[in-house]
Amino acid sequence: MSTKDSDHFSPEYRIKQLFQDVEINPQCPLIRYFRSGPEMISMAKIYEKEGDIEKAFMLYYKYITLFLEKLPDIPQYKDIPTLEKISVKNALKEVLPKAEQLKDKIYSKYHNEYIEKQKQIEKTIKEEVLSREKSQPSIKMNTINNNNENELDNYNISNSLKNYANTNTSQNNLSHSNINFNQISVPSRSLKPQNLIDSSISNQSNRTGYQSLRQVRVPKNLALIFLSLAESNTDKNIETGGHLFGKLSQNVFTITHLVIPKQTGQPNSFLATSEEEMVYFKESKNLLTLGWIHTHPSQTAFLSSVDLHNQFPNQQLLPEYIAIVCSPSHNEVKIFTITTDFGMNVLATCKEQGFHYHSQSPPLYEECKHIVLEPHLDVVVEDMRKL
Ligand SMILES: [Zn+2]
Ligand SMILES: [Zn+2]
Repeated sequence: MSTKDSDHFSPEYRIKQLFQDVEINPQCPLIRYFRSGPEMISMAKIYEKEGDIEKAFMLYYKYITLFLEKLPDIPQYKDIPTLEKISVKNALKEVLPKAEQLKDKIYSKYHNEYIEKQKQIEKTIKEEVLSREKSQPSIKMNTINNNNENELDNYNISNSLKNYANTNTSQNNLSHSNINFNQISVPSRSLKPQNLIDSSISNQSNRTGYQSLRQVRVPKNLALIFLSLAESNTDKNIETGGHLFGKLSQNVFTITHLVIPKQTGQPNSFLATSEEEMVYFKESKNLLTLGWIHTHPSQTAFLSSVDLHNQFPNQQLLPEYIAIVCSPSHNEVKIFTITTDFGMNVLATCKEQGFHYHSQSPPLYEECKHIVLEPHLDVVVEDMRKL
């Protein structure tokens, strides 16, 4: 078995790192979270099927935190249609035991890795001692010549062992029992998952690298196809917008569908008018929402303040969510993301609506580094404007 750097942390400590807090954007309509719920579950199922049980667990836990703890605390929660709430309740009956089961699986995986690492450390120490014994004559010489130096040598070995033991003790203080889901057998408002874990731990930033962006594969001809479908609007200086859907496999997203919803357009904006139709299409095909695309008929390719506020809640739900902007008049296509270190924070606190001023430095958005243009990828087009 190979071991990784993280293996020397106790299993309890490593599991704690998987419990990530979820932030709710008060400006994001609650119904969007309900729309994203089934996607979270289907992504978790894909990860589980592919053997990435940590990522699967993290998504299930995010779902539980959102729908059992966070969303019911928001005043608009009472306005959510009962049907939506019932489907979440039903989903939780599956998600809660699943999360519990995965947590146990991950625990035993981490436990095995930890034991393996301990054995390795023991072996290294033994080897060190052996090589020391081999070179004993010179040590003896040293002992004769300088007793103090030899004492210092011994001190170093025992001290490093002591340090190791100390680290382990402090990690073991984060007891496994704190994160037990066993008490949650029936979905209930009173059993908040957050209560089951040490909140100071759950709020810690992730140190295990799960936050890094997954790649998004974009069909190379997507923008051209979209521009040809937008042409009649473009000629009238009217914006056109579309949704990008796709799938997840081996931790990589692939855009497979371009859906152009029924919409109304202006020179600087467009508004989708039949969201239900689009949601039905996406769910019936089991697709994930991966981004959006729109034209700037007469302007360059950039993200306006309105575009940024449109992108923000989606990127909050899926950090990899992309915005493609096509500028036929300037012959430009750019793929953007809001900067995580700066832009996301500015947009989370900005209360303005419509077109408004944002400070430009540091930049609020940038061209994506997590996309790959694929020349041989096909895209299925669904133009709902014709329906
Ligand atoms: Zn725009
Ligand atoms: Zn703003």
